[in-house]
Amino acid sequence: MRNQCWSKGLVVILMSVFGLAFAFHARPAAAQHTAASAGDTQRDPAEPAQGMPHAKILPRPRGAVARQSVDEKSMRALIEKLVGCGTRSTLSSWSDPKLGAGCGRDQIVARFNEIAKDSGGKLQVVVDKFEMTAERTAGKPVPLENVYAIVPGTDPKLAKTVFLVSGHFDSRPSNVMDPAADAPGADDDGSGVAVSVESARLLSKASANGKGYRATLLFAAVSGEEQGLLGSTHLLDWLKQQGYTVGGMLDDDIVGADPAPGAPHRVRLFSGNGEIEDCVSPSRELARAVEEIDGRSAIRLIFRVDRYGRGGDHYPFYKAGLPAVRFTEPLENYDHQHQTPRTENGVEYGDFAKYLNFAFMGNVARDNAEALRQLALAPAAPTDAKLAGAVTPDAKVSWSAEDDPERAGFEILCRETTEPRWQVYDFVPSAGQTVLKGVSTDNHFFAVRAVGKNGARSIAVVTEIERRPSPLPTKR
Ligand SMILES: [Zn+2]
Repeated sequence: MRNQCWSKGLVVILMSVFGLAFAFHARPAAAQHTAASAGDTQRDPAEPAQGMPHAKILPRPRGAVARQSVDEKSMRALIEKLVGCGTRSTLSSWSDPKLGAGCGRDQIVARFNEIAKDSGGKLQVVVDKFEMTAERTAGKPVPLENVYAIVPGTDPKLAKTVFLVSGHFDSRPSNVMDPAADAPGADDDGSGVAVSVESARLLSKASANGKGYRATLLFAAVSGEEQGLLGSTHLLDWLKQQGYTVGGMLDDDIVGADPAPGAPHRVRLFSGNGEIEDCVSPSRELARAVEEIDGRSAIRLIFRVDRYGRGGDHYPFYKAGLPAVRFTEPLENYDHQHQTPRTENGVEYGDFAKYLNFAFMGNVARDNAEALRQLALAPAAPTDAKLAGAVTPDAKVSWSAEDDPERAGFEILCRETTEPRWQVYDFVPSAGQTVLKGVSTDNHFFAVRAVGKNGARSIAVVTEIERRPSPLPTKR
């Protein structure tokens, strides 16, 4: 095989993810019709001609969240309690302890408090009360509440960077403006709330046992999603008011069911393209990071901001240019979403717990928790990543970073413009400029990420090219 950026790098990165030198052979036969084979790449000039550098690859941080440590029983118990509130419509009662949104809030706060007790005081529970007006509040201000559980970061420079996971605890019947009809909302989005809460248990426990996380972790259960993403929009404002920078946001919405034969399947992970050329967005980089942490057997990347015609709580973060992605189950059944419970022509409608698959949901909880763990252990992402060297034989990648004694260095990443995933091109110990000798600026995309001495990686930061004047004739 030719020593090219994309081909050798692929082996290196697969080895680092799976620890398998033979992962190349596992490629499905169908993909081989379209993917460039080693033979095809020999039809291209070697790049760089002298061969790739031998990048040092640090192993990922030890102490991964184990699948068997996920408490599926508690996830089920929480969802059943939420369903027991009858409805959790944002427009329903916030004060009735047995029926309505306030009942839902109480179940989540009680569970977070139980978890906080076991965390040795590491987990702080916050109920955030606010008011919002929107089309789906009939233009009138309505009260809302979000619940947060927070594990503060231990690194003074990173404690104001927050990695969060969120599910929404409000639910809706067929008519989104009806606060009285039953709306069990087991999957949408009791499942996402259960994933967020279980992630808090898994990670606050780990934090209590050993060293803390460098960055802050926040586990959210928000309201107002069905009324137009009100709770998450407020959450973003709240984070800014508290002085946090969003390092990454994982939205879990409809992550509970997996009815197709062969379950559990991979969870889908949606990430937007960004709105500039080359499909560059921090959200896409967060998605790539999650896939690399959890593995391709766990995560199905979907390069689209959300399903067609649908929205979710990652959207306000995404629109603000922040890294935000959405987890959603592999195959949705629309009879069990946004439906007032009823039977019509022998079809049962309604979002009940009996349709959930806890083996699948437990996988989702593990994968969220492990992604958050590694991201919160990582050094800060580099800044000012730039690519220069157009119309020269060498690509020049430069970036900045603050001093960090816990950082081992940086990985320079590259990919073919048609490849969805990054390859590690080289490892360098310090920030500044690196010249990729004999590598064209034109045939690849480039990015940089920071690597901790513990092996945790920041999300990748794509290099920006210097903008040149348009080649079109200037208007006279
Ligand atoms: Zn939802």
